[in-house]
Amino acid sequence: MSARVLVVGGAGYIGSVTAAVLVQNGFEVEAYDDLSTGHAEAAQGRLHRGDIRDKDRLTAVLSDGKFDAVMHFAAKSLVGESVAHPLRYYDVNVGGTATLLQCMQDTGVDTLVFSSTCAIYGDPIRLPLDEEHPQHPVSPYGASKKMVEEMLAACRAKEGLKVTTLRYFNAAGCMPDGSLGESHKTETHLIPLAIAAALGQRPPLSLFGTDYDTRDGTCIRDYIHVLDLADAHVKALNQLLEGDPGDAYNVGTGVGTTVKEVLAAIGRSLGTPVPHDVAERRAGDPPALFARADKIQAALNWTPEWTSIDAIVDTAVQWARSPRF
Ligand code: UDP
Repeated sequence: MSARVLVVGGAGYIGSVTAAVLVQNGFEVEAYDDLSTGHAEAAQGRLHRGDIRDKDRLTAVLSDGKFDAVMHFAAKSLVGESVAHPLRYYDVNVGGTATLLQCMQDTGVDTLVFSSTCAIYGDPIRLPLDEEHPQHPVSPYGASKKMVEEMLAACRAKEGLKVTTLRYFNAAGCMPDGSLGESHKTETHLIPLAIAAALGQRPPLSLFGTDYDTRDGTCIRDYIHVLDLADAHVKALNQLLEGDPGDAYNVGTGVGTTVKEVLAAIGRSLGTPVPHDVAERRAGDPPALFARADKIQAALNWTPEWTSIDAIVDTAVQWARSPRF
């Protein structure tokens, strides 16, 4: 019988794409989501509407569904908002995850894949970022994810939880068939904002800082296609279901791309340049972040298939031209 997975946060961007890839790999999936930022149309399988802090609701869904594993994508994830309203981040991301773990334990579900972030590392003291890099997050968002990672490691050691944590770099792109992609009510990410600016749907992009000590003065990030990210989740889950206790892995391509290089790729994809104005640096943006990703390659036999920024951006453009939601 195929394994059953509850995808918590399954109506969101990365959760819904991963759920679709789980289905392609023979898993049975259901989604749990409060729809605060997600889209009901994106959820795969049955959608249970609920908050991760709602112990009764979560317990009922987990015990009724006879799940073998949980994937946990539900979180607040806007760095700026986390600086302005830190308590929301500790409440939902840390408190909500503690509730989820308790409900899993109460219902006998002992396998979890958790969405973490490279923001737990803070300002890099060495690049590429490896998993042993010191963790000094510079925002409550990053701090909340670091706290959860610590909680999960303790539960792995003492509570019998099998858990793998995936530290995402910059997710981008859509399902190649155009069925699922990135639509946020509050959009802060470079690629969707730049495409919308070029399509005339938004004002010109504000380019945050051109005076960084990088090859063209703009920030360097590691853009990873959402399908490669989803594939990492499936591989991580399979390893846990085979009895592995789990670990923490970076999920990036290892390739750094500057903001100007992203804008140029979008310009090539659309055949029109991205209108933009140079703005001040955004608080909390490190000059460069890119992954050392050999740990996941060795442990899970995962390698990114989408290694060109043009190919990644092309699928983001495809979604922006005809979003389904
Ligand atoms: N960025 C920008 N203008 C925007 C949004 C982002 O110049 O309107 C830059 C940002 O400073 C960073 C990069 O684009 O260097 C990626 O930012 P994003 O918010 O997409 O992801 P982050 O790296 O913050 O998770």
